[in-house]
Amino acid sequence: MKQIGVVGAGTMGRGICYEAALAGFHTVLHDVDSSSLENARTYIEELFEKNIKKNYISANQAAESLERISYTTSLDEAGSEADMVIEAVLEIMELKTEIFQQLDEITPSHTVLATNTSTMSPTEIGAQTRRPDRCVAMHFFNPVHRMKLIEVVRGLETSQETVDKVFEAGRHMKKECVTINEFPGFAVSRMNCLIGNEAMNMVMEGVATPEDIDKSMKLGLNHPMGPLELADLVGLDTRLRNMEYLYKTLGEKYRPCPLLVKYVKAGRLGRKTGRGFYQYS
Ligand code: NAD
Repeated sequence: MKQIGVVGAGTMGRGICYEAALAGFHTVLHDVDSSSLENARTYIEELFEKNIKKNYISANQAAESLERISYTTSLDEAGSEADMVIEAVLEIMELKTEIFQQLDEITPSHTVLATNTSTMSPTEIGAQTRRPDRCVAMHFFNPVHRMKLIEVVRGLETSQETVDKVFEAGRHMKKECVTINEFPGFAVSRMNCLIGNEAMNMVMEGVATPEDIDKSMKLGLNHPMGPLELADLVGLDTRLRNMEYLYKTLGEKYRPCPLLVKYVKAGRLGRKTGRGFYQYS
């Protein structure tokens, strides 16, 4: 595997692009929105700078990695020579299936098509292509450069060869992969969304402040981040889409907290807009 295309240059796509380039892959980052692409370029360049200063990587490694990255608004350029494409657009099934159909036309026949969906069915997404055996979910975590795990989720038709290729790419990125048999929410999102939603319900019920709920989980259960800080980091719009999908597929206990719905309507999307459960400068 030499070249990776990344589709969607938001919170996750830019992080995946950074890790793929650092791991030695030629990486083409695509977004339909050129300002997202510009923001991603700035984020990636600053992340290389920061990690040089912290002595995590050498200046040479950073320079070579940056040379391996190209940015494009053309899906053709991202897919036509890729050995694997990782899709990281919004958590909307119709959008993902449309992109997979296009990638099926654009990419060589050996190319693995992976989705970074947090909750949705790789079987359903892969079924829109003529290569469901080469479709898979490759679920990275946020922030991608810090989080070690990739959930590799096999759909009904995903071949062992595809799973092996994704594990191999993950190893190059210095990640730990686990295999998950497809079920809505996989392993991590299914548990994490429930904890986050319960924390939001508790804020709504006046049980405690967001600060005290997060503090309780950090000091009482040794979680590195509180569930509300984490939801702000993920993006409340993304979290709401995750909850809506889990509610639809797994039932009542995943009903999105009304406070989450209200915050999203108000444009309080978390860190990315400067306000969610917390205020950011
Ligand atoms: P985001 O909103 O930050 O970014 C999405 C990007 O997709 C935007 O830049 C947008 O311009 C782009 N986009 C929209 N339509 C497109 C198209 N047709 N072609 C190309 N690009 C397009 O979203 P995100 O938080 O990075 O989430 C992306 C995916 O990753 C979702 O499926 C989400 O569930 C999953 N995920 C998110 C997190 C997280 O913490 N945010 C963690 C793991 C997985």
